[in-house]
Amino acid sequence: MERPNAWKNYNDADKKAVFQFAEAYREFLSKCKTERECVTELKKKAMDAGFIDMKEIIEKGTKLKAGDRVFADNHGKNLALYIIGTDDLECGMNILGAHIDSPRLDLKQNPLYEDTEMALLDTHYYGGIKKYQWVTVPLAIHGVVAKKDGTQIHVSIGEAPSDPVFGVSDLLIHLSADLMNKKASEVVEGEALDVLVGNMPLLTNDEDDKKTKDAVKANILLILKEQYDFDEEDFLSAELEVVPAGPARDYGFDRSMIMGYGHDDRSCAYPSFAAMLEIDTPKKTAVCLLVDKEEIGSVGPTGMRSRFFENMTAEVMHACGNYSELRLRRALQNSKVLSSDVSAAFDPNYPSVTEKKNAAYFGHGIVFNKYTGARGKSGSNDANAEYVAEVRKIMDDNGVFFQTAELGKVDVGGGGTIAYILGNYNMQVIDCGVAVLNMHAPWEIISKADLYEAKKGYIAFLNHA
Ligand code: MN
Ligand code: MN
Repeated sequence: MERPNAWKNYNDADKKAVFQFAEAYREFLSKCKTERECVTELKKKAMDAGFIDMKEIIEKGTKLKAGDRVFADNHGKNLALYIIGTDDLECGMNILGAHIDSPRLDLKQNPLYEDTEMALLDTHYYGGIKKYQWVTVPLAIHGVVAKKDGTQIHVSIGEAPSDPVFGVSDLLIHLSADLMNKKASEVVEGEALDVLVGNMPLLTNDEDDKKTKDAVKANILLILKEQYDFDEEDFLSAELEVVPAGPARDYGFDRSMIMGYGHDDRSCAYPSFAAMLEIDTPKKTAVCLLVDKEEIGSVGPTGMRSRFFENMTAEVMHACGNYSELRLRRALQNSKVLSSDVSAAFDPNYPSVTEKKNAAYFGHGIVFNKYTGARGKSGSNDANAEYVAEVRKIMDDNGVFFQTAELGKVDVGGGGTIAYILGNYNMQVIDCGVAVLNMHAPWEIISKADLYEAKKGYIAFLNHA
């Protein structure tokens, strides 16, 4: 049983649409490298498209009706969008879920130090990474510094061609005799992922200053004060994320792919969001949930395990004039979900980790994973066969190219997503998403056709599930 290659079935108009959508996504990916940047950008796009902030709806006591579009921003790191359907909310929602956090290096709370006249920032990595991939690549610093007076400083250094970049050093091959014999998991230790940020001591004419201890660090602090207006103590209340520097790029002679940072899971989040902008008033209320903290277990107020979505759905129901606790329970239980996260694309360099009949291939469309998990499907949301049948009919009826896959061979590894958390409400949930090469590396790769088919699949689901 083989699934068709989307590229082989596209006409010129299809190809044009594929490349156009990919270009919009490439720009988004280049611009939005943190969960906060994704929320800020998508919120702006949503407002331009007529979505209203739930804060305003709640404050003014505005009534919502079919066709109304609203969004809720959770601490600037998690976004929920709703399009009110013609059916009562109690009948359930059609939900697209994806995450907008990606693996990276986070600055520690007390990060800046000087060693042998080099200034460095200490980090703690976020999410599952092969640490040796993060050395010697140009890195940028994105994030916010929250000051005691309530103001916020937004930082993004390393993206403009005129900006400096940063990086983690690696040991030269000439002196790596011992290092080369280490296991890959130990060759670069987590505590060694410190980012080099300066080497020039602060110099003044004052003789006392020449004796300043840690003059390189002092110079960096001066630059931070002058250019960004924050002090060393302000690092205590900052979220600064070290990410690969530079834009996402077309990949391959044929430009059929995109290399970028954070395809996991923005290659699902962006088309989910785009689908919301493209649909008319649906029968079932359409929802797009973009969550944070998936890479570290979906915990905390902005992760999928937070009550934020449930609470906000209660608010939306209330604004529709038909809230009750029981109706809310029914709305949740009657919902259907495409829980989107990236899949492992088949890699000809590493064929042994996948089982070919049940692997995801570039260009074969959106990937459905009936289950994820590891070692005997452990920890997985195993979608009901009846629901898989419904979803596959929707895809077929709407000409969406799709494939099915497992994440690798049995017992080779595995992974989890947010699917099981929505499953806890007794919703019908299936994992799906875009296939990725180099998953969790600084630069990941996707196929433009798969990105496009994901969006088509999401639109079909919102309109027909
Ligand atoms: Mn993911
Ligand atoms: Mn991931």
